[in-house]
Amino acid sequence: MEKEFSRRSFLAGAGLLGATMGFGLVGCSSADSAAPEGDSLATTGEDAAGGIEWAREADVVVLGYGAAGAATAIEAADNGASVLIVEKEALPGGSMARCGGAIMGAGTRVQKELGYEDAADDMYDWIMTCTDGACPDYIARAYADRCGANVDWLEDLSKEHTDQDLFEYARAAGGSGATSGSSGGAGCLDATGCDYEKFGISKATALPRTHWAKAMPDNTANSGPELFLPLYEAINARAEQIESIFDTAFVRFVMDDEGAVIGVEVEGANGTEYIKANKGVMLSTGGFCAGEEMQKKFVPEAVGKKCYMSDACVGEGIKAAMAIGADLTQMSYYYPIAKAQQYHYNVQYNDVFYSWDMDDEGYMEVPEDNMAETHGGVVINDKAQVLDVWGDVIPGLYAAGNDVGSNIFGKPGNYPGCGCYVSFAVCFGRIAGEEMAKA
Ligand SMILES: Cc1cc2nc3c(=O)[nH]c(=O)nc-3n(C[C@H](O)[C@H](O)[C@H](O)COP(=O)(O)OP(=O)(O)OC[C@H]3O[C@@H](n4cnc5c(N)ncnc54)[C@H](O)[C@@H]3O)c2cc1C
Repeated sequence: MEKEFSRRSFLAGAGLLGATMGFGLVGCSSADSAAPEGDSLATTGEDAAGGIEWAREADVVVLGYGAAGAATAIEAADNGASVLIVEKEALPGGSMARCGGAIMGAGTRVQKELGYEDAADDMYDWIMTCTDGACPDYIARAYADRCGANVDWLEDLSKEHTDQDLFEYARAAGGSGATSGSSGGAGCLDATGCDYEKFGISKATALPRTHWAKAMPDNTANSGPELFLPLYEAINARAEQIESIFDTAFVRFVMDDEGAVIGVEVEGANGTEYIKANKGVMLSTGGFCAGEEMQKKFVPEAVGKKCYMSDACVGEGIKAAMAIGADLTQMSYYYPIAKAQQYHYNVQYNDVFYSWDMDDEGYMEVPEDNMAETHGGVVINDKAQVLDVWGDVIPGLYAAGNDVGSNIFGKPGNYPGCGCYVSFAVCFGRIAGEEMAKA
């Protein structure tokens, strides 16, 4: 049956699946439940229609436990959905938990506290300027309207679920005037990385929108783990609604005969299994920066460059979306970095979050002439729904983070600022989580 099913999946992906080939959804039994808590993550028996044997089910199935996936899971759970996160690696975190520790936002509590006036409209203008036509207007608008509140949300999660402050509010010594705007000197807040000078904005007047998490316990250089910690602990605190499975890779989507995504095929300890998604599937597998096959196809000039994202991010999610007709955009855009970099993290997270090139002391070396994020991926609308090549919604499929090509990252060379990646992933992750929960 498995063999036959795989062929059907392929046909669905090729847009050839007819009504007679549909996978029945009726009669899924949760009688054989193996889930730890609650009904909705139950292991199911053979589908009554004889079409498919679902190993598990949840309202929302999230692919990838990184920035976008974690935000989706929390938001979906907080809107009443049961959630199953499928993570390829043995530990959560993805690239986010080993990032520099920055998140971008406008109109945040931190900005207000430190005396900076900022607004969603100003962020919208900034994104449209940086991206110079590459970012759809509806993406910039949805992002600008939410990014400030999302920084506050992360800080609230930190207060509720961790015993440490997420941001350092104290002004750094020598900080400059607050209300006039400054590129630095305000503790956790600065305008690092953004290419403001290109657009006629001086360092003195650039609004600081990059919020850096505080590295704990000591001020080690990079605070990606600390930035991810609130999401991780919030998920742990919602264990009755959110289950995570590790060492399990998403392979392809399962569709019904109407072309809706109704589940996923995964490969894990039990071999090939199928997971049913009652309300939606979230594609959040982190893009294709580390995938040579995808690099060759879409960004040939980057082949051979070291990718500093998680080595798990090889483009499997985007590829599976291509197979069901998802539209792609900005596939040739990526963020090149000329200089060698060294990242250093607090070691207490070594066995908690996934690390790929990190040594026992928490150092990660990235050589010169490397490649950071790939910017290409699927096209989404302002509800984070994935669109097909005709511009129509693929029912049941949502995406956020580096799997998404319609993003705020700007044209290569027009970087909107440190923290834009995590901020974008969290923004559309939360949108998707809420949308799926109410579907
Ligand atoms: C060293 C470094 C520094 C950075 N600094 C910053 C910064 O300071 N601020 C900022 O905004 N951005 C930064 N970034 C970028 C940022 O971390 C990423 O862009 C962001 O995490 C993307 O979010 P995501 O959810 O798309 O991917 P990720 O956070 O990488 O999560 C993707 C997850 O999907 C999993 N996955 C992959 N394939 C599969 C599969 N087939 N099945 C199941 N799971 C799968 C991965 O294992 C991973 O856990 C940095 C990145 C790195 C590596």
